[in-house]
Amino acid sequence: MSNQNNPKVALVTGASRGIGAAIATRLAKDGFTVVINYAGNVVEAEKLAADIEKSGGQALTAQADVSDPAAVARMWDAAEAAFGGIDVLVNNAGVMKLATIADGDDALFDTHIAVNLKGPRNTMKLAATRLREGGRIINLSSSVVGLYQPTYGVYAATKAGVEAMTHVLAKELRGRNITVNAIAPGPTATALFLDGKPQGVIDSLTKLAPLERLGRPDDVANAVAFLAGSDGSWINGQVIRANGGII
Ligand code: NDP
Repeated sequence: MSNQNNPKVALVTGASRGIGAAIATRLAKDGFTVVINYAGNVVEAEKLAADIEKSGGQALTAQADVSDPAAVARMWDAAEAAFGGIDVLVNNAGVMKLATIADGDDALFDTHIAVNLKGPRNTMKLAATRLREGGRIINLSSSVVGLYQPTYGVYAATKAGVEAMTHVLAKELRGRNITVNAIAPGPTATALFLDGKPQGVIDSLTKLAPLERLGRPDDVANAVAFLAGSDGSWINGQVIRANGGII
């Protein structure tokens, strides 16, 4: 049964923590029933679902490695069985390991392609035929597409691919009343950004934006909520950079 005030259902990939958890929390606050996808972190995913339910929202957790098309299909089937359909897909799951093109090994390359590029492709392939009329697809890109700093080559390449698919799918869905957009955050205070970086590097990246702070997961969730809600209905085929002015 979906929420009666807002019957819409949002599936957020990689929602157990970081930006995805903020997006799921915000969409639940806006009345969406949320499907919290995660890869391995069942404890955090279940805790988030419990917190949302405690606040009066409705949430379901769904383990699936987004790079596995069969697992994604099972997750989609389960969400449809539980709630009758999906209205909003947020492709948030992602990985980032930094290395120069010279030093990065094949495993780093393959993992990025699998999670960051094949993952959104797997979900968008289903969304293209099964998202409900009036639906929204929101992909997480990154402002590294534009900044092009050393060591971000493979990661930036996957996000550039996500932006390309965003533009193409928006056109392919002509006539379906479904918008497809991307949000491209700048440095945002999550494990993905902070882990493994020396404090000096974090400090200098913090100062890069004219607003002189790191992004917070909520900053990104606000932009996603705009695209998912009625105010965003005329935005289609766009990439919106949410980065405090870094580029
Ligand atoms: P985190 O590392 O904090 O969280 C990553 C999330 O993705 C977790 O929920 C994780 O699940 C999930 N995940 C990872 N791999 C898979 C997989 N194969 N299948 C399903 N879920 C998976 O990342 P952020 O919150 O920082 O990033 C979210 C998105 O925002 C990413 O696409 C990232 O590229 C993008 N982004 C982030 C920026 C930043 O500075 N943080 C800047 C620009 C873009 P689990 O907990 O189970 O491991």
